[in-house]
Amino acid sequence: MIVDTHAHLYYESLINNIEDVLKRAEDAGVEKIIAPAVDYNTSLQLLELSAKYNMIYAALGIHPCDVNKYEYNELEKIEKLFGNEKIVGVGETGIDYYWDTSYNDKQKEFFRLHIELAKDKELPVIIHTRNSIDDAIQVVIENYSEKLKGQFHCFDGTVEQLNKVMRIENSFQSPEKSSGLGTFYVSFTGNVTYKKYSYTDTVAKIPIDKILSETDSPFLSPVPYRGKPNEPAYIVNTIKKIAEIKNMNEEDMKKQLRENAKSLFNI
Ligand SMILES: [Zn+2]
Repeated sequence: MIVDTHAHLYYESLINNIEDVLKRAEDAGVEKIIAPAVDYNTSLQLLELSAKYNMIYAALGIHPCDVNKYEYNELEKIEKLFGNEKIVGVGETGIDYYWDTSYNDKQKEFFRLHIELAKDKELPVIIHTRNSIDDAIQVVIENYSEKLKGQFHCFDGTVEQLNKVMRIENSFQSPEKSSGLGTFYVSFTGNVTYKKYSYTDTVAKIPIDKILSETDSPFLSPVPYRGKPNEPAYIVNTIKKIAEIKNMNEEDMKKQLRENAKSLFNI
């Protein structure tokens, strides 16, 4: 009953062995996998994969580390691919200041365009951040509408930054208008299992109805698979650690995570 909300299935280590990868995932209790694209070509690849395999869903968009290669109308090509029920999100998009800060404005503008697309399609926006959470929150707030909902994936923020994310909807919604939309979720990957992980406090503090499970495969494998390519089956090791940090029974944690994925992605 687990949903891996973030796995880049088009990487060679995964796609070349996709049947085995899916079988191992199923054996580990993974029911559904959401695979986010990073550009037009991976969007096409994931559409094909999601059509072929029941358990795979797709999110389409352009990764912030890739936007420098494109004009703004690149996203219009991707926009034309929407309308298929296996597409459950827009992204991944966001802002990344770790690799390159020479095109920050372009990253922000692409992020804004993805947010507009998400509002238009009434789908969640999948947000990547690296050293950029405050600016990403700012872009979300500037472009907020009640139709907007999303996921801050692989969250590398402090408790204070988490609280800012959790307050996004409150700053816009009057209590009588709580529609179930306008909600932001946060997810953590295999790095929560590392000895030197810096955000254990953030995991401890997140409300349990706002947390999602993900692997970010093939990256950030949890212990004891660290150093090997990550895959959806390894999500159980990450969930185990999150349950431990939150002092929760593992099965209850899985149930809660499943419900949260359903309420955001409607799957
Ligand atoms: Zn990703």
